[in-house]
Amino acid sequence: MVDSTTKKEDGMSKGLLIVFTGNGKGKTTAALGMAMRAAGHGLRVCFIQFIKGSWRYGELEAVKRFAGLIDLHVMGKGFTWKSENIEDDARLAREAWDFARQAINSNSYQIVVLDEFTYLLHYGMLALDPCLQFLTERNPAQHVVITGRYAPPSLLEAADLVTEMQAVKHPLASGIKAQKGIEF
Ligand code: ATP
Ligand code: MG
Repeated sequence: MVDSTTKKEDGMSKGLLIVFTGNGKGKTTAALGMAMRAAGHGLRVCFIQFIKGSWRYGELEAVKRFAGLIDLHVMGKGFTWKSENIEDDARLAREAWDFARQAINSNSYQIVVLDEFTYLLHYGMLALDPCLQFLTERNPAQHVVITGRYAPPSLLEAADLVTEMQAVKHPLASGIKAQKGIEF
């Protein structure tokens, strides 16, 4: 039988870079599940939401119940992704990334989640190489979780754990509307 105490300590000795990507549903909820699992151990999680409005009422209310363990921060003030104001988007992206780097460098959190962060890289709002350099040179005990579609191949290369959610079926395609507890 595995000693759960030893196992937990072993788990914290190597910080993982975790990526949930792909077109299927479940990326943000996987990160939330991990945050709640960690909170159950009394670990602290910083959950940074890079696209304003991407979170639904259910998860916002649920996270409030983990106050003191899961800190939620909303970045971006609404990125547009429409290239109408590239300069503005790039500035907001840099500010959001600065905030994320501070959270990662603070050593206050066992896990830092960068939810929907891949879009900043995919749409070229942040330079990929310095981001990867920062992530690979972070405190080696720090877990970082990144979610979002279109994760760049070099990010996947740098990661320790990658799960690609594959869209096999989604109820929306059958005309079934979003439901409480499932989508919001
Ligand atoms: P969730 O927040 O449910 O874990 P996600 O983070 O994997 O989903 P996103 O790409 O962030 O998905 O998109 C968020 C919204 O888009 C969710 O409401 C989700 O149900 C919906 N969605 C995700 N994948 C699909 C799909 N293949 N077809 C239609 N809607 C989808
Ligand atoms: Mg998501």
